[in-house]
Amino acid sequence: MSDPLARLRRATLRREEAGLRRRLRPRGPDFDGLIDLASNDYLGLSRDPRLVEGAVRAAREWGTGSTGSRLVTGTTELHEELDRRLAAFTGTPAGLVFSSGFLANLGAVTALAGPGTLVVSDQVNHASIVDACRLSRARVVISPHRDVAAVEEALARREEEHALVVTDAVFSVDGDLAPLRELHAAARRHGALLVVDEAHALGVVGEYGQGAAHAAGLAGEPDVVLTLTLSKSLASQGGAVLGAPEVIETLVDVGRSFIFDTGLAPAAAGAALAALDVLAAEPELPARARRQARRIRDMAAGLGLATTPGSPDAAVVPVVLGDPHAAVRAADICFEHGARVGCFRPPSVPPGRACLRLTARASLTEAELTVLEGALQKVRAETGP
Ligand code: PMP
Repeated sequence: MSDPLARLRRATLRREEAGLRRRLRPRGPDFDGLIDLASNDYLGLSRDPRLVEGAVRAAREWGTGSTGSRLVTGTTELHEELDRRLAAFTGTPAGLVFSSGFLANLGAVTALAGPGTLVVSDQVNHASIVDACRLSRARVVISPHRDVAAVEEALARREEEHALVVTDAVFSVDGDLAPLRELHAAARRHGALLVVDEAHALGVVGEYGQGAAHAAGLAGEPDVVLTLTLSKSLASQGGAVLGAPEVIETLVDVGRSFIFDTGLAPAAAGAALAALDVLAAEPELPARARRQARRIRDMAAGLGLATTPGSPDAAVVPVVLGDPHAAVRAADICFEHGARVGCFRPPSVPPGRACLRLTARASLTEAELTVLEGALQKVRAETGP
């Protein structure tokens, strides 16, 4: 008999040699004095006393766990309020909170598509969308990145009666935006639903951070469905699907990742509600995050580092190194010089596209940007030609 763990050890060794081992790098509560340019805390709210208080109050009143599926005992007043407030904030008719953004994508795509449906999915969509497509048992066409003509062609040629187009709003590593207006026009021409993952757009894109669909004038369109996470700009945990009442009713009845999952913890709902209050009280936060991202992108480009055109509206800035070993080395250099940055390698990015992922934060200070500049200078000096 073969040793079942030997196969795992060999595969791990191969990943080691290819520079693809991933190691957990625990952090202290204050990021060990390093500047955080790696998290998705775009508005800098994760330590905000108002959010902490929202979480604590919710836990005191409702307990530490939601105690069951949302269909059984896991829906509290807080969940219902959050369903409504997220819908109102994004300009959609109705909302439904899930216990993560990953599960929101799984629920939306699998409930809205199935055998007899075509799903057209952008080639760099988030892993949760990729897995959702696989689980849906629909026919899936992977369209080239941001290629509306290819989406339209797939829709036009289909034999299936129903179709769904699914895309990230802001692509999570390159920080570019999906062409939502054009995708929506194509979807509408061909009777398809458009599902937009607002994970990296909520709280950043749009004048007050209402997301990319809102900014594109698509909020409330009956054939547009939004998914989002509470874990990035809203600095909590959880996810949601937003759309027409028919969509939400369908998810409540048949969305497996909604039905068979425990409802969001009350503390997470309380923190997310408090984050929405902060966004209302400080409407300048999204613009501040976008401004800091533009400064980081200009800084990297000014130093001669390879970045992507991205979007001036996103908070994500990649610095492309190409080789995974070089990306790990660059992340270590940043670490040694005071900045914690993301390091993305295949399969999170395509082969040859390993990169640092720098995320802006509304609360970044001048001093912090200066430290980042010093770190990036060292990266440039060590990795440049
Ligand atoms: N969609 C995108 C584009 C994401 O980047 C993420 C999180 N990395 C998710 C969905 C999943 O959200 P969550 O972390 O809440 O499960």
